[in-house]
Amino acid sequence: MNPSIEEKATATLEQLNLTSIPIDPASVAARLGLSVRFESFSDDLSGVLMRKPEGSIVAVNSRHGVARQRFTIAHEIGHHVLQHKGDLFIDQTVLNRRDGRSSYAIDSQEIEANAFAAALLMPRQQVTNELIALMNSSMIEQKNLARELANRFQVSEQAMSFRLVNLGLITSLE
Ligand SMILES: [Zn+2]
Repeated sequence: MNPSIEEKATATLEQLNLTSIPIDPASVAARLGLSVRFESFSDDLSGVLMRKPEGSIVAVNSRHGVARQRFTIAHEIGHHVLQHKGDLFIDQTVLNRRDGRSSYAIDSQEIEANAFAAALLMPRQQVTNELIALMNSSMIEQKNLARELANRFQVSEQAMSFRLVNLGLITSLE
């Protein structure tokens, strides 16, 4: 976990006075001056950030599930807020030939944008609060915690599991 990326995501939410979950990344983008478009891209293209002098554009794959679209928009906001170098960011799934699993977090800017997206959609304080509330309120089993939190934050269960580990709130993925 990169503290400065964490701080920049927190600062973005504070600047926009957003405290309640789920965070709406399309609204965050709009309020930062990015226009968001939904396009029916091919399946391997998650999203694009185009930087233009007259205003930057985020395009997201409308055929992907909602949780994935939300993460993509937050990721593109990350490229913007972190002032990554370049005018065009194309976030495409790269198929790993060895095991067939996909990943686009292959260079440092992509890793940073993903870390920003996680921190924006799953703010540390809110995740901690919701986790404590869940553990106090019910007999929910540990294995269902990530799923329940994922529902509350409208992210994938996998994204929430990674976030819980990165925040040190759970020790390992099952
Ligand atoms: Zn990217």
